[in-house]
Amino acid sequence: MKLTVKPLKQKDAGRGLAAIDRASMREIGLENGDYILIQGNGEGRSVARVWPGYPEDEGKGIIRIDGRLRQEAGVGIDDSIAVEAADVNPATSVTVALPQNLRIRGDIGPLVRDKLSGQAVTEGQTVPFSFSFGPMAGSGQSVPLKIAETAPSGTVVITDSTSIQISEKPAEQISSRGEGTEGLPDVTYEDIGGLEGELDQVREMIELPMRHPELFQQLGIEPPKGVLLHGPPGTGKTLMAKAVANEIDAHFETISGPEIMSKYYGESEEQLREVFEEAEENAPAIVFIDEIDSIASKREETSGDVERRVVAQLLSLMDGLEERGRVTVIAATNRVDAIDPALRRGGRFDREIEIGVPDKEGRTEILQVHTRGMPLVDSIDLDQYAENTHGFVGADLATLAREAAMNALRRIRPELDLEEEEIDAEVLETLQVKEVDFKEALKG
Ligand code: ADP
Repeated sequence: MKLTVKPLKQKDAGRGLAAIDRASMREIGLENGDYILIQGNGEGRSVARVWPGYPEDEGKGIIRIDGRLRQEAGVGIDDSIAVEAADVNPATSVTVALPQNLRIRGDIGPLVRDKLSGQAVTEGQTVPFSFSFGPMAGSGQSVPLKIAETAPSGTVVITDSTSIQISEKPAEQISSRGEGTEGLPDVTYEDIGGLEGELDQVREMIELPMRHPELFQQLGIEPPKGVLLHGPPGTGKTLMAKAVANEIDAHFETISGPEIMSKYYGESEEQLREVFEEAEENAPAIVFIDEIDSIASKREETSGDVERRVVAQLLSLMDGLEERGRVTVIAATNRVDAIDPALRRGGRFDREIEIGVPDKEGRTEILQVHTRGMPLVDSIDLDQYAENTHGFVGADLATLAREAAMNALRRIRPELDLEEEEIDAEVLETLQVKEVDFKEALKG
């Protein structure tokens, strides 16, 4: 039986889970807690722990895995895959390597075991470890840990009795397993709340032409060149562009509108050309143009020669893309009405998608993203915070979560130096983010 790959729900990402509906589990002969091997067409493979998904998936033949597992296995959303039981043993001991910039004083072993318990790991693999401390606090980002050694060898499951050692060598010096498993994807679908439909729209539109440009040639139609995302700042436009690039394994180039007009003043056209060249050389690629309105605004009265030349350059670059279909432009703006109409005409941006302020459900998902790695006390009801944050965009909610984490730190150790380089493992273990931390954060 084949299963269709879908993203995992935001709150369940990062734990090595594969959510499969009960009917499909039964048909394949799997039970809750079994380990399965997930493999795409390439070399990639990953092992996940089966979990009887979400009621709404029942009977749909869906397997939900997060971006890290999708990357490892070399599978994409909507791919159809077969899974089989994986051969795993409980680990007696696992040595993990921390990234160089993360210095910890004391024994972090128990904490690592606690967080990774139940996950299947293999030597050379990178696994995300969520942190609620220092620069990572509330960012929804994880620290990449490297599995340096396991006993026994092969794929092993970390259990409560696994002894965790910390490697002397930093993660950067441990060689990776297989290709394409280097590091963790920086942004995945699971890091974005409330924009599922929009993500699917963007991905579907650019994925097909990137994978199969010949289909478009055969049909005699031009593949899409660009998507324009518009909406208030901090709603996730940049995140979306990055997540889509990661998901379809495309190279990512960024152009910042204001930067190209000021920092590179006098060389703006040259800069634009170089970015597009770079993208074509690395196709399939996405060129992300942030704040495109500052390059191409309809400033009828003020428009000077420079601006006109830069806009003309951008238009001709878009029109002249040689890697047709394999290089797509995603542009973002907060001021869609201020954009030079020439850019919105003539098939330059085939689709305009509005990225609005999130509703309550979206806010809950966004809060889940940004608190995923935090040691939250169980009583915190994120729904209630979603209810009370009408008008907040993603960036505001990220700040809220981050502030709450900082409050937790301050509460635990008034004397703690947050700039300190070494983190005390004991402090990490006692850290908990409580209701009062969120209340304080909300007060601002
Ligand atoms: P934009 O490009 O729309 O101005 P960004 O994508 O740069 O906004 O968002 C800024 C930050 O706010 C992100 O790095 C993320 O932490 C947070 N954020 C914004 N929107 C979302 C979202 N929909 N889900 C999760 N986090 C979000």
